[in-house]
Amino acid sequence: MCIAGVAVLGDIFLQSCQNLHLRALTDSCTHFGIAVFSWMSVELNCRQQNVCTKKCLFESIFCGFLSSAVDLDHFICAASFKLKAAVSLSSRPFLHCTTIPIIVLLVLHMSSRIFFKSERLKTLLRDLGWIQAIALVSHHLRDGHRRGIWICPFGSIKYPYVVYIPFTLLVCFTVAKARQILDRNLNKTLKIPSCFDA
Ligand SMILES: [Zn+2]
Repeated sequence: MCIAGVAVLGDIFLQSCQNLHLRALTDSCTHFGIAVFSWMSVELNCRQQNVCTKKCLFESIFCGFLSSAVDLDHFICAASFKLKAAVSLSSRPFLHCTTIPIIVLLVLHMSSRIFFKSERLKTLLRDLGWIQAIALVSHHLRDGHRRGIWICPFGSIKYPYVVYIPFTLLVCFTVAKARQILDRNLNKTLKIPSCFDA
């Protein structure tokens, strides 16, 4: 409900706003809000709780900042601090490729299982993997209703505007369920020899 509310309000404001700086700020705040509520819904669904703890709140805000920060790649690719240059790129900047959060998620999960023994560190790495995935994928899905979701090197998948909010909700639900299953299985799996005892 909150995810849809933030997304719709942000898009309504963007349609009526002509000022480039205000548009960029609104867009960034909308990405932030969607990511905050997306992670909150993942955490509450996964833990089957109704109340957001301090940890959940901190992680949600971190997820929001990460999602807003994705657009910094526009400035990096434009090699300029000017907003006009950043929004006039001829191709999509690298952090908008959805293959990246998927690879980062896999690397962090594998690393947590192979290199570390500390349960705390393992959980931290796994959570970090999920948080960055939600931050980036929620950003990509929102941007994607204009140019499609970019799975490099395979290309872009286009979809209409109306499905980006249900897609975001579906990703949150899927991640919550995947976390539940993986966390349960990890407690039962065989011990893999660790290189580092963290
Ligand atoms: Zn973007």
